[in-house]
Amino acid sequence: MRAIRFARIAVACGSVLLFAKLLAAQTKPDEKPVKAVRFGKLWDAKGKVWTNAIVIVDGSKVRAVTNDAAAIPAGAEVIDLSNFTGLPGMIDVHTHLTYYTDEKAGEPLRRQLLDVSPAVQVFLARKAALHTLEAGVTTVRDLGADQYMDIAMRDLINRGEMIGPRMFVAGYGLFVTSSPYKPGVNPPAGGQADGVPEVLRAVRQQVAAGVDVIKMYASTGTDDDTTQFETYSYEEIKVAVDAAHRAGKKIAIHSYGPDGARDAVRAGTDSLEHAADLDDATIAEMAKRGTFYVPTIDHNRYYLDNARKIGYAPGFEEKTKDFIRRNLESARKAHQAGVKFAMGSDAVYTMYGENTRELGWFVKAGLTPEQALQAATVNGAALLGKEKELGAVAPGYWADLVAVQGDPLADIHAAFHVRWVMKGGDVVVEKLKAQ
Ligand SMILES: [Zn+2]
Repeated sequence: MRAIRFARIAVACGSVLLFAKLLAAQTKPDEKPVKAVRFGKLWDAKGKVWTNAIVIVDGSKVRAVTNDAAAIPAGAEVIDLSNFTGLPGMIDVHTHLTYYTDEKAGEPLRRQLLDVSPAVQVFLARKAALHTLEAGVTTVRDLGADQYMDIAMRDLINRGEMIGPRMFVAGYGLFVTSSPYKPGVNPPAGGQADGVPEVLRAVRQQVAAGVDVIKMYASTGTDDDTTQFETYSYEEIKVAVDAAHRAGKKIAIHSYGPDGARDAVRAGTDSLEHAADLDDATIAEMAKRGTFYVPTIDHNRYYLDNARKIGYAPGFEEKTKDFIRRNLESARKAHQAGVKFAMGSDAVYTMYGENTRELGWFVKAGLTPEQALQAATVNGAALLGKEKELGAVAPGYWADLVAVQGDPLADIHAAFHVRWVMKGGDVVVEKLKAQ
């Protein structure tokens, strides 16, 4: 398993030539030849499954979806993927691409992040971006980074200087004072905010920096810590939500536990991240308000699988396994109550490339494979406010296409076997030969 994964990484990342080829392929939209992409089957996320579909791509956008070979414009470049199933490019609404680490021998992954300069970290994170594309994810909502490295990455990708998914970024997530006093050490800048005025300032600071979305940590819980204590008061959460909305931004609120979740939902958050042990009243409120639930169940599976390499002290496994069980139970209840889901991996360290594994948990929670795919496409787009340009294969949408081996509508695991990816009309992943 590990060897296979490294082989793939070598194909994607090890080759300078491939980088050059990918960068060169990112031509200006009006210089791109018209392409006709053939799929044996296509799930368009608009309610239709096409057989022998042809997607006509003009520049960066989809011009048409058809079955009619006569509709292929003369001179179009035909890409034959008729052995595969086509999907819209998927959307991971909870990433931290700048928290990428490689597997440098002897150094725990969580320590690697501490002594790297932002410039180096952004450069390393290009691999997180590539692996994310390899998972069929063409758009991410990146929920928290230091030193605005996420803004740098977003802008480099948009300029065609870095290959990666389209990024919508949060800058610093807001958090309460939580470090012990140390003489001579200033409190960290950025997202630290206590009380209503500081919360207001911190939200406005992120907006001024140029973020797309606001992130707030309303409870404890991260890494091997599965505690669920609410950290912000309702008043602080409410002022963050309102300040974000006044600035035309959506807000994502992190809560591992039910108290932060209850207050985040009541305050009007657009999405609730992680929470386990959701109470019935909060679930009903989420269904009524249309609050998106981003359970991020799979990241704890990743922590368990990689505990030694990450550098967690032994002893957290039982608590984390129990958290997964309660997280899944909340997902089950929320789905039954009609709460909308979006797919978030919360990928950090080396988890990029496993971004869509969350869909397996969604199916365990009772979603059909199609509902799981909707969470990763149309729902993600709606959560970004981009439902008319992302998350579906339809005329006028970004030409973000994925070819997978097998039929993910029958077995969601097929969605993990990504063979080819197009983002905005450029082919960014190509693994068509058997491996
Ligand atoms: Zn996160």
